[in-house]
Amino acid sequence: MLKLALPNKGRLAEETRELFDDAGLPVQARGERALSASLGGEFEAIFVRAQDIPEFVADGAADAGVTGWDLACESGRTLRDLLDLEFGSCRLVVAAREESGIAGLDDIRGARRVATPFPRLARSFFDRMGIPVEVVPVSGAAEIAPHLGIADIVVDLTSTGSTLRVNGLREVATVMGSSARLIAGQETGRLAQLVAALTSVLRARGQRYVMANVPRAALERLKAVLPGLNGPTVIDVMNGGDLVAVHAVAPACSIYRTIHDLKALGAQGILVTRIERLMP
Ligand code: AMP
Repeated sequence: MLKLALPNKGRLAEETRELFDDAGLPVQARGERALSASLGGEFEAIFVRAQDIPEFVADGAADAGVTGWDLACESGRTLRDLLDLEFGSCRLVVAAREESGIAGLDDIRGARRVATPFPRLARSFFDRMGIPVEVVPVSGAAEIAPHLGIADIVVDLTSTGSTLRVNGLREVATVMGSSARLIAGQETGRLAQLVAALTSVLRARGQRYVMANVPRAALERLKAVLPGLNGPTVIDVMNGGDLVAVHAVAPACSIYRTIHDLKALGAQGILVTRIERLMP
């Protein structure tokens, strides 16, 4: 039985659950307030705080886990980044009070105080940059530290940047980019099947299956519109006359452009569906 440590609350928990559902590993909780659950087959989940997951995995209490890469790095433990799960994207940034006159790292002089829930990453960043600072650990919401007179500078996560702006803070530098990852300790062999299942779902999310009836005369030009994985599949339509059916996989991000281009080629009966899994 492989034990996976999964986040127990918040956006990270919801997105993780959805991904495991899509990969055919639905969480079957044991009771209303279950701390562990079966993921079917050979997987079992324990639900813990995202911050604690790096420790659980590094200590071997779980074989793998899902958490933010920022938290994995801050833990200072040796962990492997097995798969980027493509949600929870954010950046760990250095930000300073608008009125502080700090617009770049070069403006940080003297032993300034830096408030952060990421003291280890902040310390190593400023050491690397050769900038002497005093790191003040705070448990969360570092943005308010400048209002309290605790520090002029913060190191915290941001995604849209609106929390920093609302608090009168200006981004000065990026420490690291982060997103949710599947992490593991040293032994990763038994996790290959899980990685393959999650990868196939993530790959499928970015693609759509497109079907359309296209005039035979447009097939040459169609290749540019629907390259597909190995070129579009072309199928005869019974009593289709001039029309043939074409099927192909196309990127979801540009699907409206694909539909527009198909119409321009005279396509009819265009059908777009989601793909559950993709294993090229
Ligand atoms: P923002 O969208 O930049 O206003 O961020 C909103 C709040 O969520 C801020 O307090 C961030 O520190 C926090 N945040 C944003 N993205 C993440 C993430 N991926 N993981 C944890 N906290 C985040």
